[in-house]
Parts: sequence; C-alpha cells; structure tokens
Amino acid sequence: MSRPTQAIIDLNALQHNLTILTNIAGNSKVIGVVKANAYGNGAIAVAKAIENKVDMLAVAFIEEALELIIAGINKTILILQGPHKESDLYEEKGRNLIWLLHSSWQLNSYAKYCESASDEERNSAWLKFDTGMHRLGFSISDFKTIMQFHSKILDSNTVIVTHLACADELIPTHAERQIQSFLNVVEQYGNPMCLANSATNIRFPKARQDYVRLGIALYGSTPFPKNMNQDLALSPVMSLESEVIAIRTIPKGDFVGYGATWQANRTSKIATVALGYADGYPRHAPSGTPAWCNNHTIHLVGRVSMDMLTFDVTELADVKIGDKVQLWGDCLSINTVADHIGTIGYELMTRISKRVPKIFKGKCQ
Ligand SMILES: *Cc1c(COP(=O)(O)O)cnc(C)c1O
Repeated sequence: MSRPTQAIIDLNALQHNLTILTNIAGNSKVIGVVKANAYGNGAIAVAKAIENKVDMLAVAFIEEALELIIAGINKTILILQGPHKESDLYEEKGRNLIWLLHSSWQLNSYAKYCESASDEERNSAWLKFDTGMHRLGFSISDFKTIMQFHSKILDSNTVIVTHLACADELIPTHAERQIQSFLNVVEQYGNPMCLANSATNIRFPKARQDYVRLGIALYGSTPFPKNMNQDLALSPVMSLESEVIAIRTIPKGDFVGYGATWQANRTSKIATVALGYADGYPRHAPSGTPAWCNNHTIHLVGRVSMDMLTFDVTELADVKIGDKVQLWGDCLSINTVADHIGTIGYELMTRISKRVPKIFKGKCQ
C-alpha cells in the first residue's frame, strides 16, 4: 500500500479514557457505546479492547451487534433503537442482546416473542422513556400504566432509560428538568435507572444512577463546547494523517482549487495533501481550517477536492514532499477543527470513510 493516508487508532488512549470515565461513574455500571463503527474508530477492535472492562456494549441496531457477535464478542449488547422489525427479536445469534424498547409495537412484539421463548433463552428488554428530548420513548407520564399493562414481561428489575437533550449545553436548566421529571416518576418504583451519556456522566452526578452510556468521551473528544472549561485530560484515540504529495509556489493574485475560491494575497507556497472528501473530510470545510505539519499549524486554502486538500505552507521553510500532515488527533484537537467547519467532533469521527485504513496502536487490554 502506498497512499499515505491513514487513521491511527490509539487503543492505549482508549484505555486511559475508559479509566478516567469509569472513575467518574463511581458505582454505576458502564456501557461502552460502539455504534457507528465505534464512532469511526473500528467497532471490533474497540469492543475487543474494552469488553473486559465494561459491563456491556451498546449499538444502534441489530446489524451493528451481529458484526461484533460474528467477530467473537461475547459481551451483552444493548440495542439502543430496539428492533426495527419484529423478526429482529428472533435472530438466532442474538442470545446476548438487550432490546431497548421505545414504542408500543416493539413492546407488543416483545411480549409475543416472550411467549414463544423459554425463560432461560429469552433476551431481556429495557424501556426507554421520553422526558423532553422528544425523539424516542414512551411518555414518562404513562410509566405506571405501561408497567402494569405489561406486568408479565416487565417488573421492578426492568431497567428504565431516558436520554437528555442538553447535557452538554452551558445552561443546565433543560437537563435538570429532564432528570427531575424522570426521577420523580421512576425513583419510587425502585427500578434500575440509566440516564447518562458522556456529558451527563461528567456533569450531573444525580443522573449517573445504575448504568451510564459512554460514547464520545471514550474516544477522547469532549462533548462540551470550548467555553465550558471541562478539562478531563482525555486522550484523542483517532489521529487522521496524510502526507504532502506536491508543493508549488504561486504568485500573489493567483487562485487555488476548484471554483478559484481562494486568492493568494502574497507569493504563497501551497502544499497538496492526499486526502479529500471521499475520505470523510467535509467538503464544506472553509479556507482557514487548521491542520498540523512539522510542528506548526497550517491552514486549508481553496475547496476540498475528492482526493486532495491544499494548504498554505508559506511560513514553513523546510516543508517537503512526504512530510506528514495531521488533520486532527494527538497534535490538533478534533473539536478545534470541528469548530472551524461548523460541526462537532462526533460527526468528523463517524464520517471517516472505509477508504481510510485504520492502523491500531497499543495493547488491546
Ligand atoms: C449515542 C448514544 C449515547 C452515547 O452518547 P455520547 O454523547 O457519545 O456519550 C448514549 N445514549 C444513547 C441513547 C445514544 O444514542
């Protein structure tokens, strides 16, 4: 293989982050969220690296779980969207799954499934309640009715779940309101509770409860905006790298790239780098988006192409073909880059395409 573009996945950093977050979680059990190919970091490798240190794993839907099961992961896997089709419940390889049910048809299908499966064989189900996110879940005001109506399959051991819309927002009012409306209803029944994603785990001790669901922070990106000052010493897991494949000097007044959107206001040295939007780097990244080369910040100029990026390296006297460029990672925070592009670390990470080989570094366990 000769193209120098790669995503280096540092499994030691992953372990480091898990330790920090597990300590924060205290007595709460930890669910490692590995949906979306572990946020682009490689679900199988990440699951193998953390399976002995978390209580369970979580993915969005069954196909993501089957990929892990086929790869030999034996850990319990929570399916965050529940079944998409009734037939999902009967999947032969699905012995270790827990369905997070959010709607009536799922609950009815699950009740039917339970009649056909023996107690030892059947998967368990958790229930998702809507406390203000208004995306998925039963209305929290229906809690008692649902539990009573389905008392054959639900009891005081059923884990009750909600998701917060604003755990990473500066003003905590909305999150606190959701937490309180959940606790007001569920606490009196004594069911195990699960409310927290990464931001909630870090910021709202009251919402940690029995299980926390940890995604983005495991991968070393803080869920908080930069004005929130929540320094946890997380280590970035993914470093996206490529190399300079061409360098040229252009006169003042010339333009760079498709559409000639960037014009040199001085004699400029332009480095072309072997990575583009087909690799998952956003096409709408504007001129000025930072990258890292030879211990300096450099800035994107002109439009992102399918396979290439162009950077202004006028200030870098010694830059040459073959020099490494880091788009984000251990030298340049993914959140800094995301801020320039008008997105979040989550999106940059999860959109890295299949075409980018992953190089795993560090020990698995
Ligand atoms: C993705 C997801 C999480 C993880 O969220 P992070 O912000 O990445 O920690 C937790 N819960 C649910 C329901 C999710 O969909």
